[in-house]
Amino acid sequence: MKSLFNEKEAKKFVAQYRNLPVDLGLRVYTSRLLGGEVSLVLHGGGNTSVKIKMKNIFGEERDVLFVKGSGIDLGRIEPSGFVGLELEPVRQLKSLPSIADAEMENQLLIHKTAYASPDPSVEALLHAFLPPRFIDHTHADSILVLGSQANGADLLREVLGPKASVLPYSPPGMPLAQAGWKHYGQNPEREAIVVMGHGIFTFGEDARTAYERMVSYVSKAEAFINRKTRGKKFGSPRADAPPLQDKVSSIARLAQMIRGTCAFREETGKFRRFFVEVRSTSELIEASLLLESKTLCSSGVLTPDHAIRTKNQWAYIDRAEEDDALLKEKIKNILQDYRQAYDRAFAAQVQTGHVDWKKLDSNPRVFLIAGLGLITLGLTRQAARIAADIGEHTVHVKILAHSIGNYEPILEDHVWAMEYWSLQQKKLDHPLPPPLQGQVAVVTGGGGAIGLGIADRLLKAGAAVVISDIDKKTLDKVFSVLAGKHGEDRIEKILCDVTRYESVEKTFMEISGRLGGIDILVPNAGVAHVAKVEDLDPDKFRQVINVNLIGTFNTIKASIPVFRRQGTGGNIVVVSSKNVFDPGASFGAYSASKAGAHQISKIAALELAELGVRVNLVNPDAVFGDDEVPSKLWELVGPERMKSRGLDPEGLKEYYRQRNLLKVRVTAEHVGNAVVFFASEETPTTGATLPIDGGIPAAFPR
Ligand SMILES: [Zn+2]
Repeated sequence: MKSLFNEKEAKKFVAQYRNLPVDLGLRVYTSRLLGGEVSLVLHGGGNTSVKIKMKNIFGEERDVLFVKGSGIDLGRIEPSGFVGLELEPVRQLKSLPSIADAEMENQLLIHKTAYASPDPSVEALLHAFLPPRFIDHTHADSILVLGSQANGADLLREVLGPKASVLPYSPPGMPLAQAGWKHYGQNPEREAIVVMGHGIFTFGEDARTAYERMVSYVSKAEAFINRKTRGKKFGSPRADAPPLQDKVSSIARLAQMIRGTCAFREETGKFRRFFVEVRSTSELIEASLLLESKTLCSSGVLTPDHAIRTKNQWAYIDRAEEDDALLKEKIKNILQDYRQAYDRAFAAQVQTGHVDWKKLDSNPRVFLIAGLGLITLGLTRQAARIAADIGEHTVHVKILAHSIGNYEPILEDHVWAMEYWSLQQKKLDHPLPPPLQGQVAVVTGGGGAIGLGIADRLLKAGAAVVISDIDKKTLDKVFSVLAGKHGEDRIEKILCDVTRYESVEKTFMEISGRLGGIDILVPNAGVAHVAKVEDLDPDKFRQVINVNLIGTFNTIKASIPVFRRQGTGGNIVVVSSKNVFDPGASFGAYSASKAGAHQISKIAALELAELGVRVNLVNPDAVFGDDEVPSKLWELVGPERMKSRGLDPEGLKEYYRQRNLLKVRVTAEHVGNAVVFFASEETPTTGATLPIDGGIPAAFPR
C-alpha cells in the first residue's frame, strides 16, 4: 500500500476545523486515510488518538487525550467522533496492578472533557499509557496473515525489522495497556508494536509520521506475502462438487430456511428474526468447493474483535439439495450440531473462567455454502452486512495465510473472552427494539398513495419494507419519499406484475436473496374502473378482475412456499375496500373484484392457520393521498363524482369527511396503522376485517 498523505488535503482539514486545535484536524484527516483502506480496518475496527495541550475552563493548561469513540467508523470520522479524556488522572491508573472492567469504564467516563462525546474506544487505556502524541492502530490483514503462521512472531520480527516490537497476545483493556507501556518504557525508540492475534500500533510525534509508519510496516508485510504466494493456489477442489443449479432459486430457498431455522422465540413468545445478506463472489464460490472448505469455516476469526459480528466458528453446507424436505433436514442437523457445540464450549468457558456471562443465542452468523458463497445473519440489516463484509475478507486472508504456510487459529479462550467482554457487547446494544424489528414486509401496489402510507408505518415500526409496483415512475417516487424520511437502509423496491404468477414468484425469490424471506405480506395492488353494468366493457371488467382478484390470489399463493420454508408463521394483511360490504353504482368491476379478493383471503385464513400465518383484511374508504403522491383511484373516480355532485376537489374531500360517523378524513397512514396492528400480533386474530372509514353503518362488517 502507498501513503496517500497529501499536504494540500491536510491543510484543507485544518482549515475546515479551524475552531479546533490543528492537531485534531490532522488527526481526523489521517484517521480517514486509514479508515478508507479495507485491508487495514473494517466497520468500526481500529482506532487512533492524539494528545493535545489545552486550557480548561479556569485557563489552566493540561493534556487532553483525544481517542476514537467506540464503534465509530474511522473512514467517516468527524472531530465529534473523538472523545477527549483528561490525560493525567487516566494515566494514574497505570499504578494499579489490575482494574475491573466496570471500574475501568467508569474511570474513562468520569474523565471525559465533554459530557456529550461518545464512549471511548475499548483500547483507550493503551492510548493513554503510551507516551507518543499520535498513535494509529489497525487490524491490518498482512500483519494478521504473518502472525497466523506457526512461527508468526519470528516471521514478523524478521519482516518488520528492529524498530518494530512483537508482543504476545494480551486481552484488550488493562492487560494490553499494561503490557504495551511497560514494553515501550524499556524500548522508547520503537516505531511500532505488533500484538499477536490482534493488530499493529504505530507511533509518531506528528500525524503524518504515525500514519506513514503504518503504511510502511504494512507494506513490508504485504511485499513479503506477495513474494511468497506468487503463482501459488490454495486448496484442492472437491471431486464431488455439486452441479450448478438455478442460483437465484437456490439462494432464495437457503436464505428462507436458514433464516427460519435460526429465528428464536423471545420471552413474549414472539419470534426474533434475522436479516440475511448474501455474497457470491468468484473467490467465495471457489473457496466453498474445496476439500479444505470446512477447515476455512472452523479455523476461527482473524482477530478476536470480529467475534461479536461473525462468532468464532462458521457453518458449512456442503450441498444445496434441490428437494425442500432434504435441504431443511440438512440445515436442521447442521444447526443442531453447531448449537450443541457452542453451548458446550460456552458452559466450559463459564466453568473454568468463573465468569457469569449471559449466553447469547447459539446460532452461527456466517454460512459458507458449496457453489454459492456466503449467507450471513444479523439482527439488524447493518449487522448482517457487517458480518458479510468481515466474512468475505476472512476468506481472502485465510487463503493467503494458507498459501504461505499454515494458518494457526487464535486461542479459543481469547476469542470467547472477547465475544463476551461487556465492553464489546455494548457495541451491539440497541435501545428497546421496535415491534417489527427483523421482519420483512412486502407491499404490492407500493407506488400508490395507500402503499406509501402502509410502507411508512411499517418502517416506523422497525420492519424492512419492499415496495413493488408495475409502474417504475411512481415506484421510484414513493421510494424517494420513504428514503427521505427513513433512510435507505431498510427499503427495497422491485418491479412486479401481480397479474402474472411467475412474476410474483420471481419477485419473492429476489426479495429472499436481498433480505432473507418474507414475514408480512400486504397485497395492495389495485385498479378501478367506472361504468354501469350496462356499459361495462367485458375486457375492462376482466382487466380489473385480473389485478384486484387474480393479483391478490397470485400474491397470497406465491407467499405460501416462503412461509412454509421459514416455519415462523407470518402475517398477510389484504387491502380490501369498504365497497365489499357497501358497494356503489357504476363501480361494479371494482366492487366485484374486491369482493372476490376478500373471499379468497378468508379461505387463506382457514388454510394457513396451520402454518401460523394469519390473514386479515383492512377496508379503507375515501383515501385521497396528498399532492406529492395522490391516490390513483381518486384521480380516476374523482372528476366524475365532483361533476355529479357539483363539487371542487376540496369540496369532495369534505363531502366524504361529513359522510362518516366520526367526521374524519381517512388517510393512508391510518391504513398503515391497521396493517401494523395486525402484523404486530398483539391479539390472536385471523380472518378479520377492520374498517378504516370513519364509521359507515352500511359497511359495518358482518
Ligand atoms: Zn484492536
